[in-house]
Amino acid sequence: MKKQTALFLGGLVVVILGYYLTHYAKPNVQVNNKTCPVSGQNVNHTDTYVHNGKEYRLCSDQCKESLSKNPGKYLGD
Ligand SMILES: [Zn+2]
Repeated sequence: MKKQTALFLGGLVVVILGYYLTHYAKPNVQVNNKTCPVSGQNVNHTDTYVHNGKEYRLCSDQCKESLSKNPGKYLGD
């Protein structure tokens, strides 16, 4: 493969990847809730759960497990 062709293909990959990231890979919205949607206690800063593109904070990994089993029950959608 010629060097110029390799550079062209490399550039093309970067352009496609950049397009994909800006158009399709939207970052999750930080809900920044202060209380856990499962237990109602204050959240910690390590346990989070993403649902419908929103990132919720939780108080424990047990709540994370409960939420992942039945997100509609706690998040209402
Ligand atoms: Zn909790």
